[in-house]
Amino acid sequence: MTKPTKYRTRTSLVHGGTVRSQFGETSEAMFLTSGYTYETMEAAERRFKNEEPGFVYSRFSNPTVRMFEERMALLEGAEDARATASGMAAVTAAIMCQLRAGDHILSSQALFGSCRYIVEDLAPRYGIESTLVDGRDLNAWKAGLRPNTKVVFLESPSNPTLEVIDIAAVAEIAHSVGAKLVVDNVFATPILQKPLELGADVVVYSATKHIDGQGRCLGGVVLSTKQWVDDNLANYLRQTGPSISPFNAWVMLKSLETLDLRVREHARNADAVARFLEGHEKTGRVLYPGLKSHPQHDLAMKQMEMGGNIVAFEVNGGKEAAFRFANALKVIKISNNLGDAKSLITHPATTTHQRLTQEQRAALGIGEGMLRLSVGLEDVQDLIEDLGAALGRA
Ligand SMILES: *Cc1c(COP(=O)(O)O)cnc(C)c1O
Repeated sequence: MTKPTKYRTRTSLVHGGTVRSQFGETSEAMFLTSGYTYETMEAAERRFKNEEPGFVYSRFSNPTVRMFEERMALLEGAEDARATASGMAAVTAAIMCQLRAGDHILSSQALFGSCRYIVEDLAPRYGIESTLVDGRDLNAWKAGLRPNTKVVFLESPSNPTLEVIDIAAVAEIAHSVGAKLVVDNVFATPILQKPLELGADVVVYSATKHIDGQGRCLGGVVLSTKQWVDDNLANYLRQTGPSISPFNAWVMLKSLETLDLRVREHARNADAVARFLEGHEKTGRVLYPGLKSHPQHDLAMKQMEMGGNIVAFEVNGGKEAAFRFANALKVIKISNNLGDAKSLITHPATTTHQRLTQEQRAALGIGEGMLRLSVGLEDVQDLIEDLGAALGRA
């Protein structure tokens, strides 16, 4: 299912997909253009009939966007990729482009808030039923399956509680009724986890997170086989238009050059931070896939190369203590974004997951004292000192 690549990851991330203009520029060119000109009317006609290759309109494709897509496909080991304006545009397109009224979606319940909205609220409005299950329970996946299940969707590790789902096992369950498995791989990143190798059919990213990595641009990517892209995704995107700006695609393309280096350093920092937090008297549960205490540590280490950069933890004393602690941080900033070079902390119960009822949050293990920390690229000793000083004030 995955495509062999010619060069190793770091080489592909620096050179993959680059197409040079007649000027031979070293850095990839930014083609800020909405349209394209043709030598003759006959040439335009041929281009529209797909009789000759080339660009037609930047809602459909653009040279800078295409370079980003080609580089992402090489990284993922996918046959093809399409970039979108945001991660949510990618998730929405990946799910909706292959469904019609009467179909069924089976999904894990521990999801990024907006992903949960697509599956739970939006799809049913168009006659597409959905079932949400505890993704850690393979029997729940089997029980949730229906003959008309067309899409199985999951996020692993999940936001914000870092639940880990057995991707290979769920792929097998999905395929038993001919459903496609779509994996939101944002938390794991394309460096640390390869869902296509584990049996998934489609992988989606919010490129806004680690792929940009410096908190500048929104973007998304959908990756799969060429056949699936041609049959389902390409026309859906072309007609509905959630296109990424060539400028944003250029920023992402340049960021990919350092993705492998950054993600590994992020994960090393997060591992040290998680160990520090776990040993601290003012913290309760610390959830990080790389910790031995994580309930699915073995599975996480089987399907991920490292634990990623997100750590969730409880501060003893509930919401008030959590707020006092976060307000006392100096290096770590309060923000709901993640995957940034800057360490960012958020309180899911009052921000990213406030839309859920208290019971729904409790079912997901999102307590009032829980914080989600996206560990950045600062010197880890400064992060640990910042956390330690702020815990002293919680
Ligand atoms: C951020 C995020 C998204 C949405 O991405 P945007 O670029 O913000 O639209 C989807 N899934 C997960 C897991 C995310 O973290």
